[in-house]
Amino acid sequence: MADDTMRAARQFVETSALMGVDFVPVAPHAPVSEAPTDATIDTPVARAAGVAPQTNSGGTKRERLDALRARYEAKAPLPGVMPGWNNLVFEDGDPDAALMFIGEAPGADEDASGVPFVGKAGHKLTEMIVAMGLSRETVYIANVLKVRPPDNRTPTPDEIAMDGPWLRAQIEIVSPRIIVTLGRPASQFILDDTSSSMGQMRGSFHDYNGIPVMPTYHPAYLLRAYTPENRKKVWSDLQQVMQRLRG
Ligand code: URA
Repeated sequence: MADDTMRAARQFVETSALMGVDFVPVAPHAPVSEAPTDATIDTPVARAAGVAPQTNSGGTKRERLDALRARYEAKAPLPGVMPGWNNLVFEDGDPDAALMFIGEAPGADEDASGVPFVGKAGHKLTEMIVAMGLSRETVYIANVLKVRPPDNRTPTPDEIAMDGPWLRAQIEIVSPRIIVTLGRPASQFILDDTSSSMGQMRGSFHDYNGIPVMPTYHPAYLLRAYTPENRKKVWSDLQQVMQRLRG
């Protein structure tokens, strides 16, 4: 069997098993237009976060993200106010990715490893990415909070206000073509909407500075409420994303 047919067949089996719904095969190596390369973090928001634009405005996206991370580590705004975390969890994946996933905050597994989405919810997210015909290496993953809140609690508005600008700077550097926000804290932050529920936000594209944003349920919620209905909703959200990426 040709590689492409094998790949589509494997995706069909994996997606049916994972999402519990029919799979629309992705065109093999579907053309994904290049993200713009002129991202800069020289903005009032980035400046307000203490990010020196001159440190990061040149170089590759990788170099700019590394510089941003170094500045976050140097400033480390949270250790004083957020006790008990071990490792900074800044990002994973490809800085040149067309698709960016944004979660809420690291959990225990992420805190131990320094990598976002590696625990149970992370495995589910990885399955979702694979079901889309992509891999973790070809997307970019970050959280609103860069360190684990005590007892995995939901981030407070103050914590989000402190770390949010760093996420905005990451988005500016990566300049993804599409963002998927996972769960309510990430969706509300990116959409600047503190009143809508996930049910109201998910299912259609929103806008973040010209970038289409698809909010969908957090994989941890999906695992807690693993109903055919919820799986279908998430899969439908992701299918819309896949369609736009191919367009
Ligand atoms: N949940 C999140 O929102 N982010 C992670 O990195 C892990 C779990």
